[in-house]
Amino acid sequence: MTTTVTIKRADDETGSDPPADCRYHRRCAGRCERLATEAGDPAELSGLSCIRSFRRRDAIIYLSLTFVVTVLCFVGAYRYFFDLGMASLEASTSRELPVYVQRLERETDRFDTLLLALSMNRDVAAYLKGDHSRERSDALDRMLRDLNDSTGALQTYLVDTTLHVVASSMPDGPGSFVGRDISYRPYVQRAQPGRVVGYYAVGTTGNMAGYYLATAVNDDAGRRVGIVATKIGLDRLERDWLHGVERRVVALDENGVIVLSSRADWKDRLTHVITDAERRRFYETQQYNRADLRPLAWASVTPPFGERPFLRAGLPGQERDYLAVTAQLPELSMRLVVLADPSDTQQLALAQAGFVAFAVAVVALFAHIVYERRLNTQEQRLAREALQATHERLKARFEHRSAELRIANEDLRKEVAERIESERRLRSYQDELIRTENLAVIGQLSAGLAHEINQPLAAMSTLSENAVRFLQRGDTATAQFNLGRISELVTRMGTLTGRLRSFARRSSGEIVAMPLVPSIENAVALLAHRLEKEHVAVKIDAPPGPLLAFGETVRLEQVLVNLLSNAIEAMEASPVREIVIRAYRTYGDGEHAFIEVLDNGIGLSDAVQARLFEPFFTTKKTSGLGLGLAISADIATSFGGSLTCENRPQGGALFRLTLRAAPSEGNASC
Ligand code: ADP
Repeated sequence: MTTTVTIKRADDETGSDPPADCRYHRRCAGRCERLATEAGDPAELSGLSCIRSFRRRDAIIYLSLTFVVTVLCFVGAYRYFFDLGMASLEASTSRELPVYVQRLERETDRFDTLLLALSMNRDVAAYLKGDHSRERSDALDRMLRDLNDSTGALQTYLVDTTLHVVASSMPDGPGSFVGRDISYRPYVQRAQPGRVVGYYAVGTTGNMAGYYLATAVNDDAGRRVGIVATKIGLDRLERDWLHGVERRVVALDENGVIVLSSRADWKDRLTHVITDAERRRFYETQQYNRADLRPLAWASVTPPFGERPFLRAGLPGQERDYLAVTAQLPELSMRLVVLADPSDTQQLALAQAGFVAFAVAVVALFAHIVYERRLNTQEQRLAREALQATHERLKARFEHRSAELRIANEDLRKEVAERIESERRLRSYQDELIRTENLAVIGQLSAGLAHEINQPLAAMSTLSENAVRFLQRGDTATAQFNLGRISELVTRMGTLTGRLRSFARRSSGEIVAMPLVPSIENAVALLAHRLEKEHVAVKIDAPPGPLLAFGETVRLEQVLVNLLSNAIEAMEASPVREIVIRAYRTYGDGEHAFIEVLDNGIGLSDAVQARLFEPFFTTKKTSGLGLGLAISADIATSFGGSLTCENRPQGGALFRLTLRAAPSEGNASC
């Protein structure tokens, strides 16, 4: 009986909802469920792996953003601090600028006063108008020389309306301007009354650079009568700038030429590339004494982060960036530029920006660590829950499987009990059948035995009657002989019935070493009557000594009686009927003993041979039960041997009983 149990698997429900408080629930979009169906990992089942992958991604994004923000903070802070520093630098430089301007103006201011005073002097005007009397000339020369010496000017001189120098503080000598036509100098052209014009130039006489100041002289009627001018050297100021100033200071004239500088190698340099027109003009005015002006780098540059522009200046190949603060000096036709070095400001701004960026990065990382720790705590909790859930699930599955197994076990137990019962019944039926078969055989044997016994009984009857008569006659000797014969017959009958009894007795079932030849002889003796009746000759071919094999005598005899009976029946139609019984054994590996029963009967057709050992298979119409060979084969198997058959080449069948040979005492060592 088979019981079919349908039990719903505990793990049939695949997937699990992501935890309700999962912060990635929205972004997850069912990924947890998908993972849960694919994997059996507790972490996957709880959506933990989903969370982990989001965490990893978030961490990467966060750190990338932190990096970007840090860089932006660095740039922003740098710009801020740099602008701040530059503003401060500009302010301090701007505060210094008036000092330089004042010192430059102070250098020239006193000459302005001198020139204006001279331009209003009547003697000067008279002289320029043409009063060149000796007396006036001497007095004028003296005055010019005294004034010149007292102010420290290089030369103070008068120019007439034809723009020739007519008087000078240096009336003669190689450096004197007297008599020279200076109409090519722009300052004499630009000179106006009541106002001093300035002009930087390199002297054509002594090749000495200087600053020319001039003002026009008018007579009382307001007509221009000439010009009074002075050339001053700026050496003293320059010396001060070279040694005494902290910053780099330059003064540029209206042509962009550096006329004063705190660096000697910057002086007389042009701050732009000279044009052809300029070159021509400079040549004509001889402002720079026809010298070829060398260039100086001087350009405004904008830094990469868009801070305020720098002035990049310096000798070619030595340019540096400066913060430039400029003051225009129209009176002097000059520009004064103070250059401040921003590198300290830059360094400071870099350090400050670095600090800010570092602080931002530290704060961001700290926040990230705190955040990660919180997530870790959450993850640990989820992992615990997932583990718990998996544990529950596995427990349920285990219990479910246990129940399944218990039921299956119970079924199996029942089935085994049923099988045992069936086997027991089968065995009992089999035993019954064997007994039936045996009874059938015994019946047959009994018929023969009855015949065997009838003869001695009849003989005994005659002998006993005769014995009575011989005794009445007093012939005791003959009566004694008859009684002896009767006794012999009784003994023979006892032997016959003993054989039948031993054949019919129940088997002990015990497997022992048994001699084969006596069993063969017994079987033949049991069938002696039939053999005789059917005219069957029996030949036993066995070795002289004891031939032992494992088995049990009673059942072996049953097999032999069956084989001999079948052989007798198979030879019914044979004119000459002979049964040969061969017994022998083999030695060496797998020692076996054999009993072969050979007849010259009808033999075995293929169809019969195929079903020979099937229970209830028989070709006999009336007598056979079809169990003989099936039982014989079963007995052979129970002895650890086998029963096989084949056709003999000359006709008839051969049945071979193979048994496990037992060592006989005499040839145990063979
Ligand atoms: P039964 O003798 O009752 O028929 P068995 O099992 O002893 O049952 O034999 C089965 C069949 O095998 C017989 O009916 C017979 O056809 C065949 N058979 C047995 N022994 C021989 C033999 N020696 N020669 C030919 N046929 C045989």
